[in-house]
Amino acid sequence: MEHILFLAHTEDDGSLSRTAREALTGAMELHRQLAGAAFSVGLIGGDVSTAVATVAGCGAATFYAVSGADFAVSRYASDAAALETICRASGATIVVAPATSRFNRVVPGVAQRLGGRIDTHVGGFSVNDTEIRIQRGYYRQRMIATLTRTARPWFLTLDAGVFGTWDAAPGNVQVTALSVTVGDDIRKTRVVGYRAPQANAQTIKPDAKLLLVAGVGWTKKQADGQVHLDEAAKTILGFLDKAGASLGSSKSLVDQSSEGHNVFSFMSHLNQVGQTGSTPRHPKGLSTCCHGEEPHVVGWRFIGERRAINLDTNCGWAQGKADVLYVADAFELVRKVTELL
Ligand SMILES: Cc1cc2nc3c(=O)[nH]c(=O)nc-3n(C[C@H](O)[C@H](O)[C@H](O)COP(=O)(O)OP(=O)(O)OC[C@H]3O[C@@H](n4cnc5c(N)ncnc54)[C@H](O)[C@@H]3O)c2cc1C
Repeated sequence: MEHILFLAHTEDDGSLSRTAREALTGAMELHRQLAGAAFSVGLIGGDVSTAVATVAGCGAATFYAVSGADFAVSRYASDAAALETICRASGATIVVAPATSRFNRVVPGVAQRLGGRIDTHVGGFSVNDTEIRIQRGYYRQRMIATLTRTARPWFLTLDAGVFGTWDAAPGNVQVTALSVTVGDDIRKTRVVGYRAPQANAQTIKPDAKLLLVAGVGWTKKQADGQVHLDEAAKTILGFLDKAGASLGSSKSLVDQSSEGHNVFSFMSHLNQVGQTGSTPRHPKGLSTCCHGEEPHVVGWRFIGERRAINLDTNCGWAQGKADVLYVADAFELVRKVTELL
């Protein structure tokens, strides 16, 4: 009989992130489909009481926690020790965890300590009788693989945006508090603070509701026969700031920087969406000054609602690739929308 263990860590304020609450929905769904499976929850963090209340109604029979100041921050050695202890105490055969940056660093190491196997970036699963099959995208190859394993424990980190967010009224449950010793050898690694890029430099925001894609049109000669790079940069950044949107790009636009052209300092190949770029997941997407060619649009397959702004009525977006195409000047339109925001 399988035993599913859902693992999560708290955020700075003691809550569970949206990614964690989505992964919990995934773990609950797996428990529902896998007849006779046991279900446990394991939490780590400084103070896990809010997180425990959040997950209380998820249907797990057992709740484990490792908490205290040593577990408040992301540190490989203490996180690995805490998760290993929870996994061993539960006897889990299937371990489900959110693919947060904290867990992406540590969960593979925990799988190794337990002699288990891990699959990361899991984007879905199905259960065939008692056999679990998971799906994982190999984006560059444009393939989705279906995998199964007999090795146990089997660790799965679930990507954000796949399952609905668990959002139930807080409850009460009995928690088994596990003690994990953190020695001075571990404590000598201290988190002294965060150094994050400035808000306007952090243009890739996987949790944003909207993806704004910029294409090469922003750098082309406009109606007055001139290019307007400064104005384009100001318009794009102004919109990102007001809308809290994530920034994507066409390949042609980010390729220009590597060819020594004077383009946008806030974009790199990491922003590229498409066949040879990323496949972001956002509820909505707005393409601007991008032609909407297939190698680009293939990267939009997880974007819920697609809109595009192009001067060309016959651009790729008009060929059934966008839900709405605004035939308009993106400079004007984006500036106006930013004003309204
Ligand atoms: C093997 C292969 C892999 C590829 N992989 C990718 C990939 O991963 N991602 C990717 O993006 N591309 C990829 N490409 C390239 C892709 O085919 C296109 O060449 C590229 O996406 C075009 O970029 P663009 O739309 O920004 O530029 P363009 O095709 O130059 O289009 C610019 C658009 O801007 C519009 N425009 C200009 N001014 C304005 C204005 N003021 N207002 C509104 N609209 C305006 C124009 O009408 C035009 O439609 C790949 C190609 C190949 C062959």
